[in-house]
Amino acid sequence: MKKVVLLIVLLGVIHTLYPKSKRVRYKKEQTTSVCVPHESIIRQAKNVQPKKSKLTKAPLPLCKCWLASKFGPRKLPNGKQGYHKGVDFAADIGTPIYSMGDGKVKEAVMHPMFGNMVVVDHGKVNGVPTQTRYAHMHKMMVNTCKQGNCNQRIKKGQIIGQVGKTGNVRGKRPEHLHVQVEQQQKKDKKMKKNQRPYVAVDPLPYILATDAVASIL
Ligand SMILES: [Zn+2]
Repeated sequence: MKKVVLLIVLLGVIHTLYPKSKRVRYKKEQTTSVCVPHESIIRQAKNVQPKKSKLTKAPLPLCKCWLASKFGPRKLPNGKQGYHKGVDFAADIGTPIYSMGDGKVKEAVMHPMFGNMVVVDHGKVNGVPTQTRYAHMHKMMVNTCKQGNCNQRIKKGQIIGQVGKTGNVRGKRPEHLHVQVEQQQKKDKKMKKNQRPYVAVDPLPYILATDAVASIL
């Protein structure tokens, strides 16, 4: 009986010295310091082979978004077969968007489909000229410029914009980041070097190899 009373008194003292509000705040601070990628992203890691490259920064905080649509064929609202050239991450408006690697801005414009869109040229990645495209931004945080008139250098991880819902978006929760990784096609004698088109490849193998994901896999 004495022990029980002692325990109750002890609990009471702890409660007074260390109120619940403080304990909750401490727990919150602890959990938010590590940005563990959302389970929808981790789940994909089981099916996709990560591709190591110098694009080592995830395009947005992966704990503050979820994978809403993958790369590849998908049905359009009109029933026709479409092709999704990037991946969609649903996130709140204003969530920061990072450049996945060092590079130069190639385009930063308001696009009729992509909305506020930034393209970063990373030069050669794994031996292939590569660029990344970030679409539907709420706000672009680089100097706006048209292709051929851009020269702003960008560092890996630099905030280049915020998640938004500009351009062609739909659904109940339209705000998201559409991100593409594009590689320049191989040499073709008929085409001049700067005319060779860029082709979209699946960004997920690159994103799954970024530091934030690789560290927990
Ligand atoms: Zn998309």
